[in-house]
Amino acid sequence: MCPKFYKMKRTTVVFGGSGLVGSHLKADLKPTRAEVDLRNIDEIREFFNKNDFDTIVNCAGNVGGLGKNMSDNLEMFMSNMEMNMNLFKVIIENPGKINKTISFLSTCVFPADVDYPITEDKLHEGPPHFSNSGYAYAKRMGQVMADLMNDVGDYGKVISVIPTNLYGPHDNFSIEDGHVIPSLIGKAFFASQNNFSLNVWGDGSPLREFLYVEDVADIIEIILEKYESTKPLILSHGQEVPISDAVKEIAKCTGLTEVNYQVDKPNGQHRKPSDPSELLKLIGDYKFTSLSDGIKNSVNFYIENYPNVRK
Ligand code: GDP
Repeated sequence: MCPKFYKMKRTTVVFGGSGLVGSHLKADLKPTRAEVDLRNIDEIREFFNKNDFDTIVNCAGNVGGLGKNMSDNLEMFMSNMEMNMNLFKVIIENPGKINKTISFLSTCVFPADVDYPITEDKLHEGPPHFSNSGYAYAKRMGQVMADLMNDVGDYGKVISVIPTNLYGPHDNFSIEDGHVIPSLIGKAFFASQNNFSLNVWGDGSPLREFLYVEDVADIIEIILEKYESTKPLILSHGQEVPISDAVKEIAKCTGLTEVNYQVDKPNGQHRKPSDPSELLKLIGDYKFTSLSDGIKNSVNFYIENYPNVRK
């Protein structure tokens, strides 16, 4: 084979491989948390010593929806700081080993009070929403560290990706701790079995850009293959919908007719629209999954796997 056309194969490790994103990603190595807990730096060191790889996708994190963030802000800060810091520290201890690292944030870490739409350069332009400040500041610090590592240049490209509201099969369907779509799927299942109405927090008016997880898995492949920059990248299609649209789709798929909007429960941030321009330059006319197909797949996954779903 002519060496000029020989494409070097990368060897990829995914951390957080059993979570929503990680379970959909292709990888050569996917250590479980029992094998490598990123909160334990010695386990990471041992994994680096024992395995040959040059690419990392880090999906590990302590994540949750509005409820979990509000009740656990301090713990969300400490655990996410620790995981990022430990992994980056070991990458720094091994200069030249890693070519590319992708690290996950979320658009909820952007300033609460910012000119919309959100663009990558506005990440540090003000405090995050109080409801998730622990998670948000920890994730922002991960991005700061990535910048500093990129400045030094010995640790490969460290890229922060910032998806909008993710959902899909293998989500955490916890009613208290989950994000809105999985948590409403969990509630809808329970409600349909017991002839209850579906209780939705807030008035359904907040807007979100729901992004289906299999689309993210495709996009990560494209980033690994083609993205040559180290600039953070928002993962978004830029289409906002009200929470009530997701509620209608979930009700349709589960046969529920009664929906009860609990206006005494928190609405969270009203909206956080993002600008997908940078991503679209990279992925061209990629066809995103519709909300209705995505929710249908997620509900089917829940039904087929119940009770063995994360909840
Ligand atoms: P966020 O996008 O970071 O705010 O996090 P979530 O995915 O938890 O979405 C929160 C939004 O969904 C708020 O507008 C909530 O009022 C609304 N919501 C409605 N019902 C639920 C629910 O059962 N669980 C959650 N987490 N949010 C809900």
